[in-house]
This record gives sequence, structure tokens and C-alpha cells, in this order.
Amino acid sequence: MKKHNFSAGPCILPQEVLKQASDAILNFNNDNLSLIEISHRSKPFVAVMSKAIDLVKQLLSVPKGYSVLFLQGGASMEFLMVPLNLMRINGKAVYTNTGVWAKKAIAEAKRLGEVIVVGDSSDTNYSYIPKGYEIPSDADYFHCTSNNTIYGTQMKEFPTSPTLMVCDMSSDIFSRTVNVSEFDIIYAGAQKNMGPAGTTLVIVKNEVLGKTGRNIPTMLDYNTHISKGSMFNTPPVFPIYVSMLTLQWLKDFGGVEAIEKVNQKKADLLYGEIDRNPLFKGTAAKEDRSNMNVCFLLNDSSKEDAFNTLWNAAGISGIKGHRSVGGYRASIYNAMPIESVQVLVKIMKTLEQN
Ligand SMILES: *Cc1c(COP(=O)(O)O)cnc(C)c1O
Repeated sequence: MKKHNFSAGPCILPQEVLKQASDAILNFNNDNLSLIEISHRSKPFVAVMSKAIDLVKQLLSVPKGYSVLFLQGGASMEFLMVPLNLMRINGKAVYTNTGVWAKKAIAEAKRLGEVIVVGDSSDTNYSYIPKGYEIPSDADYFHCTSNNTIYGTQMKEFPTSPTLMVCDMSSDIFSRTVNVSEFDIIYAGAQKNMGPAGTTLVIVKNEVLGKTGRNIPTMLDYNTHISKGSMFNTPPVFPIYVSMLTLQWLKDFGGVEAIEKVNQKKADLLYGEIDRNPLFKGTAAKEDRSNMNVCFLLNDSSKEDAFNTLWNAAGISGIKGHRSVGGYRASIYNAMPIESVQVLVKIMKTLEQN
């Protein structure tokens, strides 16, 4: 039996997608060739790329004037590409510091200019989302992380930025509706809600590029990839193909609005049990709780062995918390069925009854 996969990333993908992907590895399009042994410039793969781009545009209602890119190097590469492409020589950028990923993004921007941190929750090991800060209008851009995968916090509202707005949406893209027109760059590593590791989705407003006065290395210049339709060099064909399948699955499901409702139900169910059950405690501030990564602790750590035995026996996998938070983290991404969350909740009740 398939396990209930609560892993934070790489993580669960829809079962139908895995089946289609494995078929395409052996025989793609009934052409008796594998998807991963055909040219990326062949008609069938070019069709995959344009369908993937099209699905992103449809699912997120991407307005005109934006480019959709599938790049490599992970979200971590975007930590550097964003300042390279947006920060003027001797410029400055504004960041929120809401977790390990935000901190890494800040470190890369600091290589190129001044960084002002306006919202910082490191004082409580990133257990909340800072709010009410002011974004200086003379900065080149503002950068935030929409969902903090490790700490289980999520921005429920985005500030209005007087400057360009950039967001790392790696762990909640396609999980809820966003208004793309409020952002100038959105990026997300594929391996949390879109596909396997190996490609990064970037949505960029064309008119914000080319203004830094910097000589940007070719591969790190968004304009290189825009002008070549993400085919400047060999794209990661398999991750892009599987992302396309996952996006098609999401479209067939009813799109982002439909999955957002289910995601809310799953989160309510699990947080409801954490709050009800006297054995457990959530680690994130209630109003900032993530609908993707649910972090919680056992109040009495001597019950850990009993809990671990129970969830292991129920076929649950991947709920150990990140080493910097401890406890447990149940990631309940788009592909996670509510039935798996019900299994976890049942185990939590069983532990209480024993
Ligand atoms: C996982 C993650 C990253 C890092 O992604 P890579 O693709 O491994 O570079 C960055 N930001 C967030 C919010 C993440 O969840």
C-alpha cells in the first residue's frame, strides 16, 4: 500500500501523475522513444514546454506583459538572480527575514548592494509573520517569502509595496489564489507543489528588467531565458514534463480556487485536532499558520516513542520536524488527499486515548 507521504520536499505528487510520468519514461507519445532520450527541440517536447507555460498562465491568470520561465538551479539560484537582475549598481533592496530561506536570499543580495530588513521574526525562531512595517520607496525592490516551509508560517496578506515586489512562493504556489499583477517577480522551486526537483518556475514582469546598469552573466540574465523561451540551453525535460502533468491534474481538479478550498479543509482538520488534543501544541502563531506545513510538538516528550510507533504502523511517512524546530511537521500540499490527514488525526486521538 502507498504510504501517507507528509514529506516537506521533495514531496507527494498525484498518483496519476506518477503513473503517466513513468509511462513516458518508457514510451513517450507512443513514439517508442523515452521522453528523456528525445531532443528538447523536437516537436513533442516543444509542445510539452508550451503547454506547461500555458497552464501556469491559465491557473494563475498571469496578465499580459509577464514571462513564464522554467529555469534550473532551484529557488536558491533565484536568491542571486533576483538581485543581479533588479538591484542597481550601489543600489539597495528591502527584505523580510522570516526563516532560513529568507536569510539565504538576504545573504545573496548583500553580495551586490545594501539590504534593509524590515520585518524580522528571528527573535522567536521565526514563529510568526512580521507585520506593519514600512517599505522605503527608494529601494530597488522588496522581497518576501510567502510560506516558510520549515516553521509553518504563511503570509495571509501581502503588503502594498511602493517599489518592485518579489516573492519566493516555493512552498505554496498553486495552493491558493494570488493576484500576479501585484508582483514583479514570483519564483518557486518545483519540488513542493508542482513537480520533481530540477526546475524552478519564474514569473517575471518584462518591463522591470534591463535597468540595473550591470553586465549580467548570460545564464543568470532573465532576458536570456525570455528571448529563448527557456531553451537557451538544454532545459530539464523530465521535471518540466512532470510539472506540466501536475498542472494539468490541477486544472482538471478545478484549478487553484477549487484546491484552495480543499487545502483549507485539510488545514482546519489538522489544526483543529492540535488545538483540541491536550497532548499536542502548534508551534506557529495562530493567525500566521501555514496551510501547507503544519508544525506541532508533543507537550510531553516521553510520549514520543508511542506516537512514533503509532504513525509508523499507520503507514505515515515524513512527519519528523525540521532539525531547527524539532517536533513534527506534516506537509499537506495540493496532492495530499484529505483521507491521509484523517489518518494522522485518528492516530493523534488514539495516542490520547491510550
Ligand atoms: C525549498 C525552498 C527553497 C529552496 O529551494 P531549492 O529548489 O532547493 O533551491 C527556497 N525557498 C523556500 C520557501 C523553500 O521552501
